[in-house]
Amino acid sequence: MSKVLVTGGAGYVGSHACKALAEAGHEPVVYDNLVTGHEWAVRWGPLVVGDLLDGERLSAAMAEHRPTAVMHFAALSTVGESVADTARYYRNNVVGTLSLLEAMRAAEIDRIVFSSTCAVYGIPEVVPITEDAACRPINPYGMTKYAVEGALADYGRAYGLAHVSLRYFNAAGASPAGEIGEAHDPETHLIPLVLDVAAGERPEVTVFGDDYATPDGTCIRDYIHVDDLAEAHVVALTRLGELRPAYNLGTGVGVSVAEIIAAARRVTGTDIPLVHAGRRPGDPDILSADPSLAHHDLAWMPAYLDIEETIRTAWAWHRGNLRRQS
Ligand code: UDP
Repeated sequence: MSKVLVTGGAGYVGSHACKALAEAGHEPVVYDNLVTGHEWAVRWGPLVVGDLLDGERLSAAMAEHRPTAVMHFAALSTVGESVADTARYYRNNVVGTLSLLEAMRAAEIDRIVFSSTCAVYGIPEVVPITEDAACRPINPYGMTKYAVEGALADYGRAYGLAHVSLRYFNAAGASPAGEIGEAHDPETHLIPLVLDVAAGERPEVTVFGDDYATPDGTCIRDYIHVDDLAEAHVVALTRLGELRPAYNLGTGVGVSVAEIIAAARRVTGTDIPLVHAGRRPGDPDILSADPSLAHHDLAWMPAYLDIEETIRTAWAWHRGNLRRQS
């Protein structure tokens, strides 16, 4: 068993990665400031409450637990907020990561799996998107993630850091066991908002834009189950050193906003009233992954390819007692 320091391990994707690590025989040690993460989501190993910018605390955690690798999820991740509070995003996501890399260097930890995003691509010229598409982020969130990818590449060349960046498309769903799931505050993501409406917690869902260049006019995204993301991280960890710098993690299947709502109606057996509103700034018509490289190099295939199945797991979490207690 090896210990893995999981920054942001109390968050949505990070907590599912901790579960996958534990199932693969590793011990996840969570390092999280609990600003957006939740203590209840830390169930598979110890929690160190600390900030990435606190280098001393990071070093102390590394000295105490002696992890052999890092999975780095800790980041602020809301696009709109990154526009409104740009300096905070750079401080947390970029300066925070540099602080992490310095602590790793001091502790002689030279392996990292980084949680990146398809937002590094900006508005793609071609979909599905391959890893060699141009990276032109269109908001500070995407820029901070791309900046970290650059730092990892440079640290790799300069100091031998073994690294990989996993560029997720839209993370969705929840562990079918129902003990962890998505819980953002405020919630901005489509599927949890739609399920709030199904549960009677919100009156209606707002569809942002119905005049996109897609068959039904609503935006198309690639929703990848969070357990599939978690699994890819564990595989990537075991293959570090043989990998390319970055991989797309998506299903390769595009699903429109209208299709999400229709699928959620079927899963929940409820009406889900909707209203139409204008486009949300910065939303490209279609974002979908070409995940071939991850299939090949990671020998990874998503288990969830049917959006209804993914929504079913999110709905189970949504209705469960654990979310209500959180
Ligand atoms: N969306 C929407 N209504 C909402 C939230 C999101 O129509 O209340 C749309 C959004 O415009 C995008 C898709 O749903 O096309 C997915 O958005 P989300 O915020 O879940 O993820 P993102 O793609 O921004 O990472």
